[in-house]
Formats: sequence, structure tokens, C-alpha cells
Amino acid sequence: MIDLVKLTLAAGDGGDGKVSFRREKFVTKGGPDGGDGGDGGSVIIRSKAGMTTLRDYAGLKRIEATRGQNGDRRKKFGEKGEAKVIEVPIGTVVYLLAENKVAAKRRNNSLIEDDALYGGKYYLEEENQGIPLRDPDNQLQYLEEKEEIITFKEADQELLICHGGRGGRGSVHFKSSVKTTPMEAGYGGFGDQKLVQLELKLLADLGLVGFPNAGKSTFLSKVTKANPKIANYPFTTIEPNLGIMYLGSGQSKEELVVADIPGLIEGASKGKGLGLDFLRHIENCKSLMFILYLDEETIFDEKISDAKKAQMLWEQYEQLRKELNDYDPKMLKKRSIVTINKIDIYTPKQIDTFRSYFTKKDTDVILFSMFTNEGLSEVTKAIAKTV
Ligand code: GDP
Ligand code: MG
Repeated sequence: MIDLVKLTLAAGDGGDGKVSFRREKFVTKGGPDGGDGGDGGSVIIRSKAGMTTLRDYAGLKRIEATRGQNGDRRKKFGEKGEAKVIEVPIGTVVYLLAENKVAAKRRNNSLIEDDALYGGKYYLEEENQGIPLRDPDNQLQYLEEKEEIITFKEADQELLICHGGRGGRGSVHFKSSVKTTPMEAGYGGFGDQKLVQLELKLLADLGLVGFPNAGKSTFLSKVTKANPKIANYPFTTIEPNLGIMYLGSGQSKEELVVADIPGLIEGASKGKGLGLDFLRHIENCKSLMFILYLDEETIFDEKISDAKKAQMLWEQYEQLRKELNDYDPKMLKKRSIVTINKIDIYTPKQIDTFRSYFTKKDTDVILFSMFTNEGLSEVTKAIAKTV
């Protein structure tokens, strides 16, 4: 699931006003009749129900609305640029990272003078000359610190993030008692350009927490119809996977969003590796399921006593809790269940030892196997009670 993208959004510049004069029989140059340019299209962000990822925007760098058309003779208005609507899932947070000059002015409410709203004036020597070029306003200035602009909390919320530039005024507006043949008209105003970061805060009912290789992806694929990558190496999914789990049946059927959060690594709370990203996701899960396990090497090592193995599992649990706590103590306030996976490779004696070790620590633990399904219904029941 792609849940963090950076994009430059560019509203359209306004179209330029026209310099022209009425043509009539017997009159070579009538009054000015240059029309206004059309406004540039704006960029709008809108939340949409049913969307779950920002995948559509992965790999995109820039999204632009169209420019307004220039004005024309006979007071003809230029057509407005088309707005661009960007649809995002509910839960998306928008951060502003950088913006062009006109956007900064607009944000600081200093676009009060007409000349700034419009794009200034241009002058021609003769009526049909081309419009002199000007420097575009597309230099982005970074903010000192990224600024959170909005969190989309419900469907169909809209944010006009980049205003289109206003259409420039045609020469028809520049007539005065002293200037009967104005050779001037207005440039279109510049459209806002912004570099934004869209971030989807994952909202899941249950987050799976465990070290790499604990069997989180296997669990998700088994209890939901999600199709995550499953690997027998302690490397890890980089993106969290979501799946829907159904609890109960018939009338009382309940839908549960389960998130397979890429494995925690030690030191994640200090920003090691991809750790912080994982923790950010866990932050938004309502409740947690810890999945502990021992790898085959450890389980089959006869030099390590079963009591020691039980202790290793407990330490794994404590390490996970420590990472969560270091990130934010609130994380440990979530409701949670504790499980040990892969009991198909543990002996009955080991299973007993592990269970009583956790019981002595006042912690309910469920042992299960994704391979044999043993204990899986117990896990499901515990989940139903927890979420
Ligand atoms: P993740 O890193 O937590 O997502 O772990 P995966 O779901 O990718 O699983 C890691 C490895 O453990 C894979 O080879 C799985 O086949 C294996 N595995 C998962 N569940 C079980 C189980 O119940 N028993 C055994 N023996 N292996 C399992
Ligand atoms: Mg995985």
C-alpha cells in the first residue's frame, strides 16, 4: 500500500488580456475592445469513500490544471482553465512543503493589491504584436517546517489547494479621457504552485505486531483475502498490507480491517531502518495483536533449555513493547492480545513451558499454528473480544 507521496500541484495561470480596437466601416481605430483572459483552473483535493491507498499518485511528480485562454478582440473573454480534482482516501493528511511566490502571498493574505492578483500590465507598440514574455512564477520556496494543512476525515470533503490565476484585463478596461487608444492590457495572474506531501494514516481495527518472520503476512492472508508477500527470511514487507476479516456469521457478521505492519526492528523508535514508518502505522490501529515466535534454529537447539526458550519469547514481547513505548507510551494503552505462532514445530512440553511462563507473568497468551490451524479459532475469538 502506497501511503506517502510527494507531488507538485500547479493551478493554471490566468489568460492574458488582449490589446485591440474596434474596427468599423470608415473608422480605422475605434475604441479599445480587447477582452479579458480567462481564469486559470484550480487544483482541488477531495476525499472519496472506498479509496484505501494513494497508489494512483505513486510515480507522479506533477499535477496541473489548465491555463485560462487569452482574451480576444471584440471584448471576447478567454475561456476558463479546467480545474483538476485529486481524489484521496479518507484519512489522508496534506502537508505543505514548498510554494511559489503567488501562493505564499495568497496564504499570507497579502494579495490585496490588484496588480498582484492580476499579473501586472504589458505594453505594445502596435496592435498585433505578440505579448512580451515574462518570467514564470514557478520557483518553489521551501517552508522552514512542513505545515499540516488538512486531514480528510469524511467523504466528499474538498480543499481548494491551488488557486488558478485570475484572467488578465483586456484593453477595454484601460480607456480613460487621456488614453483613448490604450496600448496596454493585463497579464493573467499566476496560478498557485505547491509541493505537497500526501500521507495516508492507516486506520485499521487490528494491527499485527511482531518481528520479521513471525508470520504476520501468513496470518493476514489466512484470515482475510489479502495477498501479501510471504517470505522465509527476516526481511520485511515495506508497505503495510490491509485485509478484511469477517467475524461471526449471518446477521451478526462483523467486518474488521486487519493491517499487516512490516516487522519491527530493534531501535525502530529511534528511526532505525524503516522502523519509524511502521510505528506511525501502528499508531493508527485500534488494537494490536502481538505475534511472537522462535525460529527453527533456536527451537531445535538442545543446548538451550525450554525454560530459556520461554524466556526468549517473553523477552521478544518486552522488546516489542519497549519499541512501542519509546515511540509513544500511548501505544501500550491499546487493547491487545498476545500470541505465539508456529507451535507445529514446538514439542508439547515446550508448549506447556511457554504457556506457564507467560501465565506467571500475568499475561494471557494464545499459542497457535498457521500451518496446522491449531489454536486459530481461539485467536479469532480473542480478536472478536478485543476489537
Ligand atoms: P512476517 O515477516 O511476519 O510477515 O512473516 P511471514 O508471514 O512472511 O512468515 C515467515 C515465515 O514463517 C514463512 O516462511 C512462513 O511460511 C512461516 N510460517 C508462518 N506461519 C507458520 C507456522 O504456523 N508454522 C511454521 N512452521 N512456519 C510458519
Ligand atoms: Mg510480512
